[in-house]
Amino acid sequence: MTQIVIQARSSAQDEPKLYNTALETLTHVASREKNKLLCAAMDELPEGIVLLDSEGRYVHWNKSYADIYKATADLFKVGARLADTLRIGMQRGDYPEAVGREEEWYAERMHRLQNPGQRHEQQLADGRWILIEERQTPDNSTIGLRVDITEMKRREASFRLLFEENPIPMYVLDLESSRFLAINDAALDHYGFPLARFLDMRRAQVVCMECVGNDGAMGANGAQVSSERHVRADGSVIDVTTFSRQTTYDGKRALLVAAIDVTERNRSEARIAHMARHDALTDLPNRMLFKERLDAEVMNFARHKQPFAVFLIDLDHFKTVNDTLGHSAGDKLLEEVSAQLLETVSGPSTVARLGGDEFAVLHVGPQDDESVIALAGAIIAAVDRPLTIAGHVVRVGASVGIAQAGRDTPSAEVFLRNADIALYQAKAAGRSTYRCFEPAMDEALRSKLEFERDLHEAVVTRALAVHYQPIVELSSGIPKSMEALVRWTHPLRGEISPVEFIPVAEEMGLIKEVGKFVLETACRDAAEWPLSVNVAINVSPLQLVGGDFYDLVVNALSSAGLAPERLDLEITESLLMDASDETVRSLQALRDLGVGVSMDDFGTGYSSLSYLRKFPISKIKIDRSFIGDLGSKPEAQAIVRAIVMLGTSLGMDVVAEGIEHLDDLAFLRGEKCTEGQGFLFSRPVPSSDLQKIFERHGILQAGCSHVLRE
Ligand code: C2E
Ligand code: MG
Ligand code: MG
Repeated sequence: MTQIVIQARSSAQDEPKLYNTALETLTHVASREKNKLLCAAMDELPEGIVLLDSEGRYVHWNKSYADIYKATADLFKVGARLADTLRIGMQRGDYPEAVGREEEWYAERMHRLQNPGQRHEQQLADGRWILIEERQTPDNSTIGLRVDITEMKRREASFRLLFEENPIPMYVLDLESSRFLAINDAALDHYGFPLARFLDMRRAQVVCMECVGNDGAMGANGAQVSSERHVRADGSVIDVTTFSRQTTYDGKRALLVAAIDVTERNRSEARIAHMARHDALTDLPNRMLFKERLDAEVMNFARHKQPFAVFLIDLDHFKTVNDTLGHSAGDKLLEEVSAQLLETVSGPSTVARLGGDEFAVLHVGPQDDESVIALAGAIIAAVDRPLTIAGHVVRVGASVGIAQAGRDTPSAEVFLRNADIALYQAKAAGRSTYRCFEPAMDEALRSKLEFERDLHEAVVTRALAVHYQPIVELSSGIPKSMEALVRWTHPLRGEISPVEFIPVAEEMGLIKEVGKFVLETACRDAAEWPLSVNVAINVSPLQLVGGDFYDLVVNALSSAGLAPERLDLEITESLLMDASDETVRSLQALRDLGVGVSMDDFGTGYSSLSYLRKFPISKIKIDRSFIGDLGSKPEAQAIVRAIVMLGTSLGMDVVAEGIEHLDDLAFLRGEKCTEGQGFLFSRPVPSSDLQKIFERHGILQAGCSHVLRE
């Protein structure tokens, strides 16, 4: 009897069809010719087909069969037994699964051959995987089918890696029934119940058991991915992400779902968000968060007329603590202040640190004058409390600027600016005090800021000038020296008095620049004057801070080529009142060089005799207010007389300032006052006008001194 084995390689769905076709064909093929035709057709199939007779001997095999078993193909012979080729192949190591357990493997394989109808997989020495299926025909012959499933096995392995062994809990859900089709180990661990129980439940039940809340977060990215957040009883947050709908191998519509624990990630995100909006030192809201809350209040006010106010707080003398006790003491102080403020301000208000020593309170609630004043007072009192820091008792005050929500509260920016303007006014009013913003303040500040900007510009572009006013010998009227007086012609406002702009330059830290300019210009100019004429220069107390004043003067003298004896420095009592040892030392050093030091405006300050003794003063200038009053007030005469006597007895020259009238000149001459200055002799003039003055008095220019010698 002829037996034909058809081994067909095909896709899983095609297999039954193929068998039927093969069997039908066999039934109908009677002749050898037709058989041949059939064999040729079988060779075209991609699946391996083998036909064995009832004794298990090869009858026929197609080309694909021989290809699949290329290592063993030399053993295929019509009439040879498959069992024998298996044994030989096994001994040669063609079947890696058999290595080390040859007999057992062989027995299993034979058992399958004798009990056909079941599929099994077989690995070949080159790593390929073959699906084997054998079936018995009614006449006891065997049809074997071999399919190369290497590619499928590879995909299976990656699926295992991606799904089964994935550390992220995942499951596959049947879209229709909402039942679980597959659950990975991580998901079993995560939910904590066995696979069997899982397969019994619907998804909704699992979700219900897992989460105590849903934080509402639901993201969707087209139809591809959607996610929702579950909050578990222990507070952990699970991000449940559903990936695109898939169709499983058996045609079911399914969803792949991953449950990721995002608790830690959320926590660190929250930490970062907190850090971005809070001050690292005090943990108070920072400027950013304060601005956000202020924005919200501005909106709230526009909609519901909910009143609020901003209190900007600036610590007085914080810099001194920082500079003298160090930064860590400064930090400690800021922490203490922050605690005090939090204690003082309650309710829905925000206490923030805007930076440096600047704090702010956003106070929400009724803002009648009484409560605003009460809170401002409480804030000042809270800060102005002695604190012990690094073993020192420290006391700082607070200046407070307040802006209240009113009809015109257009934006948080304007609001903060208004509070800032009020703060500026509070500071100007003498610290540890508060001011509420008023529109008039805005105008005043604006013009002050403009003034400062213009002055800065004038200093930088050297748009200042120096004029000179003679100080004359009263007996002869001959100029003994020239006082240098700085001048600023503002492009719009014209001449501005130094009485107005010198204090601003001092406040802005520009005074050293101004002073240096005047000193250098005056020394240069004076070097051109007759040798008998000195130059007097006004010195601001701030010029002596920093220890560089001595060098500045010496450099100005030497680069102008001016003898130190021809320079007088005019200082005021205020300079001496806070004078450090260093200031006294540099003044003394300049005196030792030959530079003169005059006490300006004498009589207006403390007029302390001890200053005159303690400091190296060479000249006293009686303030012009006394001279102006000489004609009208007898006590002015007494004061002037006393000062002249005092100076003379201390061996100092005495200069009377502001002489405008001949009567006053006569009085001063009578009192033996040696020198004088005033409009009666000359107003301050530009250096180009000095020539005429020198000529009028018959004194020669320095450059012409050789004429004198001849
Ligand atoms: P000061 O040092 O007492 O200068 C004398 C001031 O009195 C000058 O005013 C001068 O013009 C004015 N004066 C002089 N004689 C008379 C008079 O007969 N009648 C009246 N009514 N006034 C007279 P000026 O130039 O406006 O300077 C004012 C103040 O500005 C100066 O007072 C001085 O304290 C300060 N100053 C001027 N230039 C400088 C400077 O370069 N540096 C510093 N630090 N201060 C300066
Ligand atoms: Mg002066
Ligand atoms: Mg003066």
